[in-house]
Parts: sequence; C-alpha cells; structure tokens
Amino acid sequence: PDAQATPPIRHHCPTLEARQRERLELQHDLRGAAGRGELRLAFQPKLWLAEGRPLGAEVLLRWRHPRHGDVSPGRFIPLAEATIDILEIGDWVLETAMARLVAWRAEDRVAEDFSLAVNVAARQLCTPDFAATLLRRLARHGLPPHSLSIEVTESGLMADLNEARRQLQALAAAGIAIAVDDFGTGHSSLAYLKTLPLSVLKIDRAFVTDLQGDPAARQLAGTITRLAHGLGFEVVAEGVETPEQARRLREMGCGIAQGYLFARPQLEAAFLDWYAEATG
Ligand code: C2E
Ligand code: CA
Ligand code: CA
Ligand code: CA
Repeated sequence: PDAQATPPIRHHCPTLEARQRERLELQHDLRGAAGRGELRLAFQPKLWLAEGRPLGAEVLLRWRHPRHGDVSPGRFIPLAEATIDILEIGDWVLETAMARLVAWRAEDRVAEDFSLAVNVAARQLCTPDFAATLLRRLARHGLPPHSLSIEVTESGLMADLNEARRQLQALAAAGIAIAVDDFGTGHSSLAYLKTLPLSVLKIDRAFVTDLQGDPAARQLAGTITRLAHGLGFEVVAEGVETPEQARRLREMGCGIAQGYLFARPQLEAAFLDWYAEATG
C-alpha cells in the first residue's frame, strides 16, 4: 500500500490544553463535594518507634468522584489550594475529624492522650480568624487542645510568614502542637524555623527512602535528627516502609514514625480495628 494513502498517526498524548480542561473540570466538581458526601477521612497511625505503641493518627482526605472514582489528594488538594475552595474543604476536615474523635473518646475506642493530626494549607492558616475559629470549635466539641495537632508544610509557613506566625502563636499558646510537614524539601533552616512556635519536625519520606543503602543520606538524616532534638523539636519520620528503615531511625534516635510498614491510611472502621489490635 502506498504510504501516502495512510493518514499520519497523530499522537494525542494529553496536550497542555486537554490537561488544563481536566484540571478545570476537577476543580469545578470539587466544589460542594463535602455537601454531596463525596469526601471521606482516612487515618494513618503514628507510633513511638521504641515500643511500637500508637500515639495518634494523621487525618488524610479522600475524594470519590462520581464518575472518575477515587482522585488522589496529591492531585486534588493543589487544585483546591489554588482557590478559596480549600477553606470550605479544610473546615469540613477539621469539623469531621473533631466529631469522630469525640465519638471515639466517648466509646473508649482510643486512649485519653490519643491525638489527631490535621493537614492545614497555607491559605487556611493565613486566614485571620483561623486559630480563633479552630479553638472555638475544639471547645464546642469539648476536646482538650492536646487531642489535636496540625501539620503545615515549610512552603505553607513561608507563604505569609507574619500571618502564619500570628495564627501559630495563638494555637501554640492554647497547647496545640504544630508540625512542619515534609521537612527537608524546602529551603528553611532549622534555626529559622525555631523562631516560630513549632514543636514537631516531620522528616520527608524522600530522606527515609534513602536510609537504605546510602551512607551519606543516613549521615544527613542523623544530623538533622540530632540538630532538631537539640533545638527541642520532636522528630517524626514519614513513609517508613521497611523494618530496616525503622531500625535505622531508631538507632539515630528518631522518636516517632508513620508508614506502610505499620499501617496504611484507612477509613474509620478499619483504622479502629487496627488500633484495638495494636493496643491489645
Ligand atoms: P502528606 O501530608 O505528606 O501525607 C503523607 C502522604 O504519604 C499521604 O499521601 C500518605 O498516604 C502517604 N504515605 C504514608 N505512608 C506512606 C508510606 O509508607 N509510603 C508511601 N509511599 N506513602 C506513604 P496522601 O494521603 O495521598 O496525601 C497526599 C498529600 O495530600 C498529603 O501529603 C497532604 O499534603 C495532602 N493532604 C491530604 N489530606 C489533606 C487535608 O485534609 N488537607 C490538606 N491541606 N492537605 C491534605
Ligand atoms: Ca502531613
Ligand atoms: Ca508529609
Ligand atoms: Ca508529602
């Protein structure tokens, strides 16, 4: 057959325009998702590395799109963060997390000192009434401040440093622990972070992954951990997947860990089963 007769194959790998359209569509569909019951919370335990006992859990948002099914937060959270929709979603996460914790405490499903860690976006944190609203909400639920902590990324802190500082000071003064999430991926120094009322550093998963094999990476993680402890931070390692990583972290004195090795993020019922089993 004549090559001229076959139409050229056009590779329509998603063009910029198509991706942009998809983003806009998801962004549109996300609006009101909470009200339509499309959002769920997953819970991933945090454990004391020394004895393997769970001390709390991180709250991770899940979205089931009516047509596309589960959309990962890595995809939809940035879309929400680009608009004020993150405020409504963040509100829903805080309110739902607190309501669940109240129920768990009332039913004695979790220990008295169990706490939930909620991820907070920059735009949320830098809303002038963020701290006051959160504290009022805790009080309304009758929850002690130690039962909640928040996680903010380095870049989230730097977005509007003055407002972030104001909000964090109000939260910390009330007894809420504040963690720097994904530590090591940004450019802020520990000494600088120490000027904010932060109490926990979460070492990014990338460092934990590198613990296996790479001696230089181990040195680095060890140094960060010692420095952080020296400055009075609690250190949490995220993304722990293997017993060797856990052993290395224990050796370098890292106190708390989280990761698939212990448990994946799970919906409420499965998480509570896991917790009951783990606390025996
Ligand atoms: P993140 O806060 O750094 O959360 C940790 C992510 O690592 C979660 O992904 C978790 O499922 C995953 N992970 C935990 N253990 C392991 C492990 O051992 N191995 C691997 N490979 N991954 C592990 P997820 O649930 O997909 O969430 C992604 C990001 O979306 C979160 O990263 C956080 O930045 C954001 N996010 C999730 N929920 C919320 C929320 O309610 N509000 C805000 N603002 N952001 C959220
Ligand atoms: Ca987090
Ligand atoms: Ca993280
Ligand atoms: Ca992360």
